[in-house]
Amino acid sequence: MSTTRLPEGGASPLSPKVLLEARGVSKHYRDFIALTDISFDVAEGETISIVGPNGAGKSTLVNQLTGLSEPTHGTVRFKGENVSAQGPVKLARLGMARAFQLVEVFPELTVAETIGVAAVSVASRQFDGFRSFGRDRMLRDRIHEIASIFGLQNKLDVITRTLSQGEKKLLDIASAFALKPDVILLDEPTSGVSTADKHGIMDTLMAAAKQAGLKAMLLVEHDMDLVARYSTRVIALQEGRKLADLAPDAFFADPVLQRTIIGIRKVA
Ligand code: ADP
Repeated sequence: MSTTRLPEGGASPLSPKVLLEARGVSKHYRDFIALTDISFDVAEGETISIVGPNGAGKSTLVNQLTGLSEPTHGTVRFKGENVSAQGPVKLARLGMARAFQLVEVFPELTVAETIGVAAVSVASRQFDGFRSFGRDRMLRDRIHEIASIFGLQNKLDVITRTLSQGEKKLLDIASAFALKPDVILLDEPTSGVSTADKHGIMDTLMAAAKQAGLKAMLLVEHDMDLVARYSTRVIALQEGRKLADLAPDAFFADPVLQRTIIGIRKVA
């Protein structure tokens, strides 16, 4: 995997490689239009925050990008391949992972088992079924490696239900990283944790991204302090339309966007 560094200030002017392309994406639920004509590219090196008020269409957009749902109009391509409605398994194989809050889905699994659920799918692609010894050892090593990156190496045998909220968040992100993705999508990676813990989680996430050679990241994020600090680009949605697609400095300098998107939220 490449060791492309996530830059601090926007995509390189040297036409970085486009990984993900949304073109004219619309989503209708019967008569209700949840997304209208959304187009943008995600290139190597970008950390993009998708922001907007509740109901703006953020989750609907992420569902289209991650192949969970088929756009009513438009296309989503990942590495040049049409991935509309292809599902998370195919997307993971192609190199796109999404944190699915597995901790909430499987609360009785241990930390090691939870990371293993994701790691085993990668291992099964790399080893045939007859070489189980090599596969098992590789899996163990991989689980330890991932847990260490996220500071969970001393919690491997802990039942996930008993973890702190911050540890649960880290474990969700760790599970997505275990898929060895090039691109990762995270839906509010720090929701429900204290302000003090949010930055710790984000710093761990960014360090893990560098270490793993992650090529790009998309976050749905409400916390504008985090958006300002960690994004290279901000895509703002309102009522299903793309209202802005800007570098963070330009986004936070626009008073109309502040009122529309952020409302009374504190601006960084
Ligand atoms: P956000 O993530 O920005 O809060 P959502 O993408 O969840 O917004 O929702 C956007 C709009 O689409 C909302 O009005 C929501 O009620 C509607 N919506 C989302 N999913 C469905 C669905 N399966 N059927 C009907 N309406 C939906």
